[in-house]
Amino acid sequence: MSKDTILVVEDEEDIRQLLVFHLEREGYATLEAADGKTGLALARSREPALMLLDVMLPVMDGFAVCKELERDPKTASIPVIMLTARGEEVDRVLGLELGADDYVVKPFSARELLLRVRAILRRQRSTGDRPSLARGSIHLDPAGHRTRVAEREVDLTATEFRLLEDLMRNAGRVRTREQLLNGVWGYQFEGYARTVDTHVRRLRAKLGEAGDLIETVRGVGYRCKE
Ligand code: CA
Repeated sequence: MSKDTILVVEDEEDIRQLLVFHLEREGYATLEAADGKTGLALARSREPALMLLDVMLPVMDGFAVCKELERDPKTASIPVIMLTARGEEVDRVLGLELGADDYVVKPFSARELLLRVRAILRRQRSTGDRPSLARGSIHLDPAGHRTRVAEREVDLTATEFRLLEDLMRNAGRVRTREQLLNGVWGYQFEGYARTVDTHVRRLRAKLGEAGDLIETVRGVGYRCKE
């Protein structure tokens, strides 16, 4: 089996080296970039299995990189874990509603980061075996990572796709934020409820009118209409 390649985009060299060290020790192949523009170019040319992306980067920051990744269907499905400093940056990661799949706050433990990397890669790998499904005007094809609303192709990030799939497979039933975190992210952490809300908001916006299929159940979670 070929190794999963992880792209590390971080301008602080000691942090970048540390990440590369831990990832390679876990058996991953790595690619490195010290600025956003180089990182974006590598993501496009090498299509890594996953990206670790610092927020504050020279030339092009992590938010701009994320936006660019999302515009191209080829790179939109690459999962992104944002690396952020404590405080204001975390609020921006959540508040700007980017396409990042997850984030970790610096200084982070290698153990926690690797746990998230593994969880994301595991759920990516299982995508191919799941049957396609349809509800209302939405069609999901996990094998091809494709989403259509009526005849329109919609580009979803890896996490948005999993979220929509989870809700559609459980149509008619309320999914609590905790259940969605377990099912979509593969783990639970405190303070993550907002992450679910942010991703649901983005997902609805991308689906347009079909987004009405996802109902908010106040104080509990979300439900896909049957
Ligand atoms: Ca930085």
